[in-house]
Amino acid sequence: MDYFSLNNKNHKVNFKEALFNGLAPDRGLYFPQEIKSLKKSFISNLNDINKIEISMEVISQFIGNQIDKESLKKIIEHSIDFEFPLKKIDENISVLELFHGPSMAFKDIGARFTSRCLSHFIRKGYNKKVTVLVATSGDTGAAVASGFHKVEGIDVFILYPKNKISNIQEKQISTFSDNIFPIEVEGTFDDCQKIVKDALIDKELTSNFNFTTANSINISRWIPQTLYYFFAYSQLPSDIEKYSFSIPSGNYGNLFSAVVSKKLGLPIENIISSNNINNPVERYFKSGVYTPIHSKETLSNAMDVGDPSNFNRVNEIFDFDLVKMKDTLHAFSFTDHQTMDTIKYLLKNFNYLCDPHGAIGYLGAKKYINNNLGSHCIFLETAHFYKFYDEIKNLIDVEFNIPSQLKSILDKEKKSVTIKDYYNFKEYINSYL
Ligand SMILES: *Cc1c(COP(=O)(O)O)cnc(C)c1O
Repeated sequence: MDYFSLNNKNHKVNFKEALFNGLAPDRGLYFPQEIKSLKKSFISNLNDINKIEISMEVISQFIGNQIDKESLKKIIEHSIDFEFPLKKIDENISVLELFHGPSMAFKDIGARFTSRCLSHFIRKGYNKKVTVLVATSGDTGAAVASGFHKVEGIDVFILYPKNKISNIQEKQISTFSDNIFPIEVEGTFDDCQKIVKDALIDKELTSNFNFTTANSINISRWIPQTLYYFFAYSQLPSDIEKYSFSIPSGNYGNLFSAVVSKKLGLPIENIISSNNINNPVERYFKSGVYTPIHSKETLSNAMDVGDPSNFNRVNEIFDFDLVKMKDTLHAFSFTDHQTMDTIKYLLKNFNYLCDPHGAIGYLGAKKYINNNLGSHCIFLETAHFYKFYDEIKNLIDVEFNIPSQLKSILDKEKKSVTIKDYYNFKEYINSYL
């Protein structure tokens, strides 16, 4: 399978090159040359097949012959080594929980898959040792730290804004050592991102380091994310014929994976983009003109994105045809106030505690169901509520125990270094030469 750059369809690379480059040299996102539907008999028999077999069938076409079957199977086994339970909430709404991985957010799947794919090629001698640079506002850094820890041939520098991520997220990023180098930046997330971008094109650094990035523009993030849409379908009661997904969206990587899985043959009716007030796509659907917005801070901070990178891929898969896109996609946005009310409502009425991102997913599902009576909607719970406990604990009057994955890190010592600017960063990274 080849991948082309969304800026130039004639620029094609194979899976390995797309993986190591992250972004094409012309700054375009990589897109698969073809997405072939899977056999109908495979889709209708999903509940008889185990997760690994489902995954091999779904993913193989995107890898082609670049990774041998045996190795690919090991990579997949490692990437999805936890539960993906589908739970019924009320008559027409279910939740797919994606937070049972080590960092307790859905980004674990992509981070684990990416690290193992990179390591596979390095071990085979196809590539030199790589240095991954990541700027994070929270969940990506946590998933990357855990997913890349002790992975052979890879060093990871994670930059996060000082005092601007949650206490738990900071612990998740800053308590690793070995090949993980946490860096606290005196500045904002944008400052972190600027340092990473400057480093990637700094000739003094790139002559010594083989850099790559691990954020959601990499194809190795959306490819494994298609899998849990299949796992959801395999758990759906057989009397449900029509179903849709509501996806709490920020950079649109997760939503793009849903659209791909529909294209692969899953009988998904609609896909709902559920957003906080950062809603450029909903505005686009209403006005017909796409305009990026300045992102505003909200309770569901992993979705505070004003110009989502992966929306380009969504455009491409619908041939840049807004009418066609709106046939499948719906977009709704909700305020922090509605998010808080929903967290309380779900706990009181269904004894289900959502994090702020999942609550927005539920709101999108509810709105969709009200407009489409008789449908069933699955919303994604993208993080465990405990990651946002400080923000939501005054809304609820019950005590909750901290999950074991998070408990184990709370007593660990923070190991980050603090830097002020690009000059500090360069000095620090050069000391590892
Ligand atoms: C990253 C993240 C999202 C947004 O996912 P995208 O693929 O960027 O749209 C939603 N919820 C949580 C908890 C996240 O960490």
